[in-house]
Amino acid sequence: MKRVYNFSPGPSALPLPVLERAAAEMTDTNGTGQSVMEMSHRSKDFKPIIEKTGALLRELMGIPPNYQVLFLQGGASLQFSMIPLNLAAGENALTPGAPRKSVSYIETGIWAKKAAEEAAKYAAVSVRASSKDRAYTYIPQAPAPAPGDAYYHITLNNTIVGTKWAEIPDTGTVPLAADISSCILSEPLEVSKFGVLYAGAQKNLGPAGVTVVIIREDLIGHAPSWVPALLRYDIHAEEASMYNTPPCYGIYIIGLVLEWLRDLGGVAVMAQLNREKADLFYQYLEQSKLFRSPVEKPYRSLMNIPFVCTEADPVRRGDMETRFVKDAAAQGLMNLAGHRLVGGMRASIYNAMPIEGVKALIRFMEQFN
Ligand SMILES: *Cc1c(COP(=O)(O)O)cnc(C)c1O
Repeated sequence: MKRVYNFSPGPSALPLPVLERAAAEMTDTNGTGQSVMEMSHRSKDFKPIIEKTGALLRELMGIPPNYQVLFLQGGASLQFSMIPLNLAAGENALTPGAPRKSVSYIETGIWAKKAAEEAAKYAAVSVRASSKDRAYTYIPQAPAPAPGDAYYHITLNNTIVGTKWAEIPDTGTVPLAADISSCILSEPLEVSKFGVLYAGAQKNLGPAGVTVVIIREDLIGHAPSWVPALLRYDIHAEEASMYNTPPCYGIYIIGLVLEWLRDLGGVAVMAQLNREKADLFYQYLEQSKLFRSPVEKPYRSLMNIPFVCTEADPVRRGDMETRFVKDAAAQGLMNLAGHRLVGGMRASIYNAMPIEGVKALIRFMEQFN
């Protein structure tokens, strides 16, 4: 069997034991004589799968009972729309000139910016702080919310630029909404500090096609009547993510990933492993003459680590970086190109990346010239 070290930012590597178990259960899951892909989502065979997945996520993240866990479609990007539609939009939000509720956004990268742009279709968006002035290489100070804000939005881990919030901002009574697509379950997170959390599964949780939403119950049920059924948290919550056919197979794989994580010791143990991996790589970058991290130290992500060649001449640097990505791939170190908007390189080292993968990458970098 050939397996590479896959540093892709998403969809990304899954734990090998999860893939092997899914393969073993492909044609006959839990003695049902069916693949999960063939099961009715309303059947007695599928029900325990979605329920177990939800319960395990609650257990591992310590989700309080007054929060709902939803399994939705549309990616993290659809949450850029669903959050303003459900938490801020009024009946007249689409009428030109009608008053709109205010919402606060912190712009820490390209995803944060996209989220704010979607919200501006339904709410009065105020970008309260931005790190664009230094190419998003740091997390700005978070100002207090504006009085009356319907919510306050942050991107907890910025996948493209490789920054993360070191501290969760205190937004008082204004619900904090956070995109945790690329850091869910990477470290312990105090869910009660947030009103809504959301994550596309394909980074750290499972396959593409499922989005997990964790939402405090009092924030459900405020969407105006014109919001389509499939974009309403109240309908998804009432129907326990089964208003229509959920992404059944993806939910099943998330369940296997969560079991793998639980058996490893849970999120605290995972966080320890993630810190070891990230420390090793950052320490290597610190002493390297050839490579460096463009991200300011206090804000460096554990999950996505961009790096660039130190070569000053931009043309030679570009050539080196292209050669780096190509030669690394030839050694089975895959998907190390930086995001197309920022260039350079990026190693995404999510939960499923073993420390051996990071060591192999460092060995490759040590002999690269
Ligand atoms: C990948 C990513 C997104 C976009 O996710 P989709 O599921 O493709 O919509 C949004 N936010 C963050 C932080 C991401 O890493």
